[in-house]
Amino acid sequence: MNNSALNNRNNVPKDSESTPKNILGDRHEAFILREIISTINNPLLITNKDFKIVYANPAWENLTGYKLHNVINRDPKFLSSGKTPKRIYSKMWRVLEKGKSFSSSEFINKRKNNSEYKLKSDIYPITLNKKVVYYVQIQHDITNVQQLEEMRKEFLYVAAHELKTPIAVLKLISSSHLNRARKTGKDSIKLNELELVDHEIDRLTQLINDILDSSRFETGKQFLMYEKVNLVNLIYSSIEKVKIYSPEFEFNFKYSSKSLYILADSIRIEQVMLNLLSNAVKYSPNSRLVTITASKVSGRAIVSVVDNGIGIEPSKQKYIFDKYYQVKSKSKTGFGLGLYISNEIIKRHKGKLWVKSVPGKGTSFYFSLPLYHDILNE
Ligand code: ADP
Repeated sequence: MNNSALNNRNNVPKDSESTPKNILGDRHEAFILREIISTINNPLLITNKDFKIVYANPAWENLTGYKLHNVINRDPKFLSSGKTPKRIYSKMWRVLEKGKSFSSSEFINKRKNNSEYKLKSDIYPITLNKKVVYYVQIQHDITNVQQLEEMRKEFLYVAAHELKTPIAVLKLISSSHLNRARKTGKDSIKLNELELVDHEIDRLTQLINDILDSSRFETGKQFLMYEKVNLVNLIYSSIEKVKIYSPEFEFNFKYSSKSLYILADSIRIEQVMLNLLSNAVKYSPNSRLVTITASKVSGRAIVSVVDNGIGIEPSKQKYIFDKYYQVKSKSKTGFGLGLYISNEIIKRHKGKLWVKSVPGKGTSFYFSLPLYHDILNE
């Protein structure tokens, strides 16, 4: 294979003599093959027999951040993060030296910007007259696949656990009540038992609603009922609801004007407020104050919910709006769906939700929404 034949994507190679016939055939075939390879979505890397790079397709360039002309003739070991177990390389060489293909899903490499990615790589030796001339690597970026799989497993575990606990409580209360009633012939359920039943049913309802909401947003089946909404009144009523469950907390609400109107589905925006406020309470084990503001900035309504709780590490902040994502912490009690759903609701309202947080100091969530007047004038 002629390096320039593959490197130059725009020209048919002039010198087909130097192209081994059994790899790329004549120059037209070489051209077509080069075009096909460059359109493959999977990262693809070709090295010569000495393991020096001769070609990388655009998907590989996208994955690693390197450009082909910068890595040509280099040994791909510059991509190594040092975290791939040594035994994988030893096994790889043992297999390749026998002229066989090798497959592994354990490569941990680093991009040009030093971030790591996990790779499944299938390496095929290309032989000419029984001698290896090239190695073709077809790669699969499995970084996100693994992360998603872990999140899915974690969610199933948490959801199953969260469903099991209230169902066990409900079963216990109903069975003991039933036994008592069978024996005595009297209906003798106690008030504290009823309260527990009520609380557990609320938790189950919340989980089921969250699962349904997230799947509706994912499939685009979530319909919004827009109306003119007074944002200040909506925030007041959300605070009142959260106060019922957290009477020990002080909610300090400041607003720039009483008449902040938005065109919104009030139930959904209240859902966002309830989620932000209950998170502020949930993740503030040592503080009792939550501050809420609502103001008008550049034709938009901006709402903030600020707590003095445990905070979120900077490296975790970009994931908290992902489905099922939960920062590992002692206060963990949710399902990792609340912020995902809130973000989807705000996006559907042409708004934006974002976070600022300092670990140990507290977290501020903000969302912006177009004002009622602005939407009608668009
Ligand atoms: P959960 O049901 O776990 O609360 P969310 O989607 O509402 O799910 O939040 C995702 C994660 O973001 C939480 O598990 C938590 O780690 C973090 N988080 C959300 N709000 C706060 C907050 N106010 N303070 C600290 N961490 C928070």
